[in-house]
Amino acid sequence: MKFECAFKEYLQEEREWMLDKKCAHIEYSRLKEVLKSCQSCKQLHNSSDSELDQHHLCRCQSCSSRDEKFFSELMKEASDIVGYFNSRARQILHLHTATGMKSYVWRLSHCFKNDMQALEQEGRILIEYIAMNAIAMRKILRKYDKVHNSVNGENFKSRMLADHIELLHSPWLIELGAFYLNFSGLDDCELDVICGHFSCVLNIAEAKMTLRLPDSIKLEYHLTCAICLDLVFNPYALGCGHIFCKSCACSAASVMIFEGLKAAGRESKCPICREVGVYSKPMQMLELDLLIKKRCKHYWKERLSDERVDMLHQSKVYWNMQYTHPTGLM
Ligand SMILES: [Zn+2]
Ligand SMILES: [Zn+2]
Repeated sequence: MKFECAFKEYLQEEREWMLDKKCAHIEYSRLKEVLKSCQSCKQLHNSSDSELDQHHLCRCQSCSSRDEKFFSELMKEASDIVGYFNSRARQILHLHTATGMKSYVWRLSHCFKNDMQALEQEGRILIEYIAMNAIAMRKILRKYDKVHNSVNGENFKSRMLADHIELLHSPWLIELGAFYLNFSGLDDCELDVICGHFSCVLNIAEAKMTLRLPDSIKLEYHLTCAICLDLVFNPYALGCGHIFCKSCACSAASVMIFEGLKAAGRESKCPICREVGVYSKPMQMLELDLLIKKRCKHYWKERLSDERVDMLHQSKVYWNMQYTHPTGLM
């Protein structure tokens, strides 16, 4: 089946599922039509001179103004899709870890059906949502470059990465992948509608999660902390999407573990991409932590006790400073 048909079918099915009617999509068919008219414009260029004279001005001008609109529309769609995906993933995973009243209310709204199964299904629908749109985006950009013989489409991907709206680079996708692997208990997990799958390898030599999708898309999310060079422990994603152990990120931002990453100064930079302002909304990756805790029990326990020792030591230093400095005893 051609992707266009598969995407249309997917959009129809999706409406019958639980996704919001408001949620954004890549307008694949419409954008393809735009590219088709660009292609006929190009063919006209290559045809006889007389025809070119007749159409040269109007066609080319409309093509260049369309370009700007084309990419700004795509940018808006990508940003809306990522925004929707992140907020829904946050909801689903918070419900998974919810306790007390919050959990009760959720169970009530789902008529006390099998909670975990319902959450797993919602997670699956959400992964399919981001994956289908990512495939559509890649196909449209590739087509754009082919029609215009350009690299604008390829460059647009880098712009999306820099603006943190590349569809398959959200840390929430890694969290959902971990949730999925936790649920199945397997190292490899199929996504049925789109024929893709998540898998993970967690050991000292290699630590990564892989997402394979149709159209030869393969994404590897590396889970080695760039600071301690070990498998991440108590992982946090910074605003730029880079993932570190909480204790490592704290030491990079010169804050104590018990103060948390939000205590970092605004000028603190990500140790990998050097972006500033990325510590203000750190994302704790609870599902990934659970995955590591389940798969690497010994390692996880060791790191936990190390973190506790560090925290105790830092608190002692902190309180000593508080008591000695104000009274001038030091
Ligand atoms: Zn680390
Ligand atoms: Zn970064």
